[in-house]
Amino acid sequence: MKTVRTVADLRAALQPPRRAGRTIGLVPTMGALHDGHLELIRRARAGCDEVVVSLFVNPAQFNDPGDLDAYPRDERRDADLAAQAGADLLFAPPVGEVYPPGFATKVVVSGPLTETLEGAHRGPEHFHGVTTVVTKLLCMCLPDVAFFGQKDAQQALVVRRLVRDLDLPVHIETVPTVREDDGLARSSRNVHLQGADRDRAVALSRALRAAEGAVAAGERDAAAVRERALAAMTHFDVEPEYLALVDPETLEPVAEVDGEPVLVAVAAHVGSTRLIDNTLLTPSPGAPR
Ligand code: AMP
Repeated sequence: MKTVRTVADLRAALQPPRRAGRTIGLVPTMGALHDGHLELIRRARAGCDEVVVSLFVNPAQFNDPGDLDAYPRDERRDADLAAQAGADLLFAPPVGEVYPPGFATKVVVSGPLTETLEGAHRGPEHFHGVTTVVTKLLCMCLPDVAFFGQKDAQQALVVRRLVRDLDLPVHIETVPTVREDDGLARSSRNVHLQGADRDRAVALSRALRAAEGAVAAGERDAAAVRERALAAMTHFDVEPEYLALVDPETLEPVAEVDGEPVLVAVAAHVGSTRLIDNTLLTPSPGAPR
């Protein structure tokens, strides 16, 4: 696996495979790679001829400077893991390559997709930072397919809208969430979970399982499903920042879980670590009521 740091070198490295008609897959990451990222890379390896992993901790999407400073960084380790998972090229630009002096453009997806849930709690600038850097990465690399995790369901939705609205010629592939054995969604931030907080962090996935259990048992009232999920979190003494049942396409709140898929999205601080998770409820028509 080769590492490149400039847009010019990335384009030069991709020119021969592109000319040869080989498909290019891009996996955008902020590094501190874990099995969730590696699953994205493996999917890209399986579906594309040339696999590019980008590694860029994007300052523009951090609403909290402390979070940016504390973000785990280890490029050597990331490069080894990306290579083992099948990456051909690591694109690891410095901040000045992505945001050169005089940089003045922002890509904004407006409306509820970016203003609710994460947008409401981290501020709209978070998604503006994401959409700006994702647009840039797509333009730099011009992949056929870009891979995103369902773990960040709202981000994947926003990216799909961005690609559709701007007619970007790329297919967005969403990969299911990879979890620890106890259900905790893998996240670069999990390294900050110490001692009892690591045990309490399971509260988010337990809440999602409780919501799934309630629906499987026939509950259809969204508020009642939410109460069951909330109770599971309270058991671990974790209070959600938000815990919402929403339409997975519009993110509008839903009143009922009845036939159509419903996204349950949750965010919570466990100690000083902010975690998010989600699941898609898909009650089958034959399920008990
Ligand atoms: P990040 O480095 O946190 O920006 O994540 C890079 C990509 O990996 C994003 O598309 C995330 O949604 C995805 N990702 C992060 N954690 C997981 C996970 N546990 N399972 C699947 N994908 C993930």
